[in-house]
Amino acid sequence: MAVQPTPPSADPFLKLPGFTDANRQKLAKLGLTRLQDLALHLPLRYEDETQLYPITQAPQDRVVVVEGVIKKSEVQIRQRRQLIAEVADSSGRLIVRFLNFYPSQQKQWQAGKQVRLIGEIKSGFWGLEMVHPRTRFNGLDAPLGNKLTPVYPTTNGLSQDTLQRLVGLALKHTALDDTLPASITAPYKLPPLEKSVRFLHSPPVDTDMYPLTARHHPAWRRLKFDELLAQQLTLLANRAKRREVPALSLIPKGTLTAKLLASLPFALTAAQQRVVDEICRDLNRTVPMQRLLQGDVGSGKTIVAALAALQAVENDTQAAFMAPTELLAEQHYRKLNEWLTPMGIRIGWLSGSQKKKERETTLAAIASGDIQIAVGTHALFQDKVQFQNLSLLLVDEQHRFGVGQRLQLRSKGSDDGRAPHQLMMSATPIPRTLAMSYFADLDVSVIDELPPGRTPIITTLLDNRKREQLIERVGNACRPAPVGQGAQAYWVCPLIEESETLQLQTAVATHETLQAMLPDLRIGLVHGKLPASEKQAVMNAFKHHELDILVATTVIEVGVDVPNATLMVIDHAERMGLAQLHQLRGRVGRGSKASYCTLLFQAPLGEIAQTRLDLMRHSTDGFEIAREDLHIRGPGELLGNRQSGVPLLRFADLEKDIDLLEVARNLAPRLLTDAPDVAAAHLERWIGNRTGLLDA
Ligand code: ADP
Ligand code: MG
Repeated sequence: MAVQPTPPSADPFLKLPGFTDANRQKLAKLGLTRLQDLALHLPLRYEDETQLYPITQAPQDRVVVVEGVIKKSEVQIRQRRQLIAEVADSSGRLIVRFLNFYPSQQKQWQAGKQVRLIGEIKSGFWGLEMVHPRTRFNGLDAPLGNKLTPVYPTTNGLSQDTLQRLVGLALKHTALDDTLPASITAPYKLPPLEKSVRFLHSPPVDTDMYPLTARHHPAWRRLKFDELLAQQLTLLANRAKRREVPALSLIPKGTLTAKLLASLPFALTAAQQRVVDEICRDLNRTVPMQRLLQGDVGSGKTIVAALAALQAVENDTQAAFMAPTELLAEQHYRKLNEWLTPMGIRIGWLSGSQKKKERETTLAAIASGDIQIAVGTHALFQDKVQFQNLSLLLVDEQHRFGVGQRLQLRSKGSDDGRAPHQLMMSATPIPRTLAMSYFADLDVSVIDELPPGRTPIITTLLDNRKREQLIERVGNACRPAPVGQGAQAYWVCPLIEESETLQLQTAVATHETLQAMLPDLRIGLVHGKLPASEKQAVMNAFKHHELDILVATTVIEVGVDVPNATLMVIDHAERMGLAQLHQLRGRVGRGSKASYCTLLFQAPLGEIAQTRLDLMRHSTDGFEIAREDLHIRGPGELLGNRQSGVPLLRFADLEKDIDLLEVARNLAPRLLTDAPDVAAAHLERWIGNRTGLLDA
């Protein structure tokens, strides 16, 4: 059963003092729309304001509280306008500086007034100084308190003081009764929710700071657990919702699939066979398949997709095969034609750049069912495309498609009240923790083995200053035997994110340089601005060894398959991310000959770039590289468009909290079946109306 969280209740946000429209808008920016969201808005860190230091004796390496009398204050124009004041207590004096200030603030700074300052003291040119301290002018006779002061994540224009006050109100007016019975939380020594929340908002001053900031404290673990559980429940609810519409059962008749397998020049690897079986079983069911097929570059995902498509055709239905770029889609189209046309299967091609006439003919053939497998870019899923009987969607590099496109795509073929099966393919290996959390609503198949006979790629780093020697070496290797080895090379041009035009210019210039230095070699150029047909012509020339060197922008990142190409140079490799480097490098090492990849870098290397390039040199394991990438960039970037799910995790850390994640993952399905009301209450508390985020 799908849990439908109740719509957010009308919270008395407005009725409480302090919740002005301006504040509400700022809170909304932080994703806080209900009092209970605010109650669960927990501190990033804490400051100790329980002790008042004499100005000259305050430690200088951390936030402290001092108090004194304003001796003078004035607005000065040094490099810029600033408010400068002098504050003194019995021990000495310090200078306070504000670079940004409001007129109202300026007014507060009157000589003779008592002020409390919270901030770091530094020894500066003018003696002791505090820049932009937090200040308090009122209530200074009240005792200092014995709680740590929370510092919350905030947004422009919402001060910590205001936020603290609003959170305080929220805590007063929100019921924080436990959504989970103690029988669930006790075995993991997780304290009650309310106690944990209140503690984290204002821990006593003698609390050990380390577990608090490192978020190991049991109170933190309780919140992380609840959050992870809410995420798992959401994913499961989404999965259940998607399964409500039945799919057509595709019976594995084996007629066509057996024929294809018999015609291949290779046998499936054990890993391929395993995932083929998993997919075959799914397709046979009336529940729509939602499966992610993961396999490193070159692991052989296309043949697995082709076999699935044949199972659709065997049942007199259609399959659609979509890829994010024209180059990639066309490559699939060619591959499928090579394999399936001899078997009499009719394959269609649809892309945005197609001529109108051609496109209309294809559309008609798709609508009549004449085309059995349609291959193309996202053009496949525009409104005009009507399938006769679509039962299977194959999506390559699924993370490159936007959320909207995926939703649109899912609605295709469901006109007749049936949902198509879906197989999503990805060459971005997804670390286990990510797969368990962000993809909990998908089944995952992994091809964890490369076809036999591949030799590992040898990767080296080279300083750009040795560029000319490298060009000579590449030239030598590419010359025909006996002078050279008749090799073929990719030369990948630097990524210039800021400007596509500049990137193009660089590619053209690199092509010219190589041509000038190696006049006897055939050197081609391919980049994103070329029309699809020309791109394909260049790629084909390279494939048929009519070109020795292919200068390319990152368009060759996905899907190019030229086994004779054994050399790759990646120019300015320090600008690229790990995933991209790994994808690029995967273009070589596809044949039986040893392959080499040279990462050309511009010194000096930053620390992150150095780490990345070292990892590339040492590892060809996509999973290891992805784990490191997750470490460096965080899940949002690694998953591309699917990062919409990221806001669901504010506290938990996928790497550090794997134990809690596993518990939550096991608990969620049991909760949904045994105690759906508990699950619903928990979702309402944590997610409220935010479930839509994960719909795609
Ligand atoms: P990817 O997983 O990166 O999409 P491809 O499907 O393009 O990989 O396969 C890479 C190459 O390996 C292709 O030339 C393909 O025909 C070949 N191939 C696939 N499976 C096998 C296998 N079991 N044995 C040998 N070669 C294979
Ligand atoms: Mg592929």
